Amino acid sequence: MFLLPRLRSASRCRRGRLASFVRRHNHPIGSSMASCATCGTTILFGGTKDGSLRFCNTNCQSKGAMLSRAAQVSDSEAFGHARRLHTGPCPKCSGSGPVDIHMSYRVWSALVMTQWQSRSQISCRSCGVKSQLGNIAFSAVLGWWGFPWGLIMTPIQIIRTLFVLVSPPNPIEPSPKLIHASKLQIATTMAVPSAMTPA
Ligand SMILES: [Zn+2]
Ligand SMILES: [Zn+2]
Repeated sequence: MFLLPRLRSASRCRRGRLASFVRRHNHPIGSSMASCATCGTTILFGGTKDGSLRFCNTNCQSKGAMLSRAAQVSDSEAFGHARRLHTGPCPKCSGSGPVDIHMSYRVWSALVMTQWQSRSQISCRSCGVKSQLGNIAFSAVLGWWGFPWGLIMTPIQIIRTLFVLVSPPNPIEPSPKLIHASKLQIATTMAVPSAMTPA
């Protein structure tokens, strides 16, 4: 968390709106709020823990191991990489950008089990919207069938996805999330030179 002062201040406004939404809707369960140390997503319930750090899932946790390496990447190097991703072709459809991070939130249930995820995708806006609508449909069909978490998490994940759907990243410049993802991508290539994976 201490690694990302810029990301935090840049997204405070948006986080604040989500936080007030969560406060309103979170009351009956009384969970505490935390942010994923890797992707900055607000963690409503669950997630995984590593010492004092919280992550939205094990995938983010393993990326979290990259955080210390990512801290060594300079802001200007990360911004340059983010700028190249932002103005480059969409990794999904090869269409024109701007390319940025598009979040979506989904949930599925099977009786007593409910699993919910935060998914980030680096793509153009149109591919991002496609994925968000797909995840809303996925949750609307498969989310409900668990008690009690399916009934609780399905509307929350759908509303969170609707929220990011109507507040897309600024098309003019790379978002703080994309700059942060660039740091992680650079850190990944530092660890294994041949394995450059999208964040
Ligand atoms: Zn995360
Ligand atoms: Zn695309």
